[in-house]
Amino acid sequence: MKFLRYGSAGSERPGLIDGDGHIRDLSGVVDDIGGRWLADLSWTRSLDPSQLPLVEAGERLGPCVAGTGKFICIGLNYADHAAESGLEVPPEPVIFMKATSAICGPNDDVLIPRGSTATDWEVELGVVIGKPAKYISEEQALEHVAGYCVVNDVSERDFQTKRSGQWTKGKSCDTFGPIGPWLVTRDEVANPQKLKMWLKVSGEMKQNGSTETMVYGVAHVISYLSQFMTLHPGDIVSTGTPPGVGQGFKPPRYLKAGDIVELGIEGLGTQRQVFRDDI
Ligand code: ZN
Repeated sequence: MKFLRYGSAGSERPGLIDGDGHIRDLSGVVDDIGGRWLADLSWTRSLDPSQLPLVEAGERLGPCVAGTGKFICIGLNYADHAAESGLEVPPEPVIFMKATSAICGPNDDVLIPRGSTATDWEVELGVVIGKPAKYISEEQALEHVAGYCVVNDVSERDFQTKRSGQWTKGKSCDTFGPIGPWLVTRDEVANPQKLKMWLKVSGEMKQNGSTETMVYGVAHVISYLSQFMTLHPGDIVSTGTPPGVGQGFKPPRYLKAGDIVELGIEGLGTQRQVFRDDI
């Protein structure tokens, strides 16, 4: 299933994509795409999309998951991206938090924060937690995954690395977390370590990689995180980016107002954002 949330920001309704690519309304079936509805997906077995109300085309898409409690990101999780950043692949996964207030829809405008000169892009595979996960093994890990989505881990490099402390400041600005268009349930993703991923800036291909070159795979990362904290339904884990970010160019290529960023992952859909100044 491909679940989504549609409608104006803050009042999205749950929906799904039917076999013809149309949106069907799910609000008569579930409260939202989140929480207990993700913890146990057995309700989806009896769903007949053709019986759900058809939604007219042209609706805004919201973030594909509601009520995300934690937005955890993995840093330097592609060897070639670590190299372009001038850093070693760490001996254990590097984790950092992105504020959940950064979450926005997949095609919403992204705001370049005040004072920014180094706003950058990162296409990433997002993992959405289903069943709560605490002290789970790598073998069990995928059973705790509800599904996958595209994430743009938008980053302000100077805020991230030149303003003291950890990376949070450069990762958490409003709209720095477009997620979606869909939450694709785990059963539809045969192998999360074999998905092509790409990102273009104003029509020019910048990132063209695959989850195959991830250092710490999805199962390892979920198991690893669960040794430190319980992962809850609707939590999002963004698993790192392949090479080709703006910081890696010489000179660096950062985003400015009017730039259009398009990105996608095989089977998970595409996003498109217009960047503009947060004035
Ligand atoms: Zn990232």
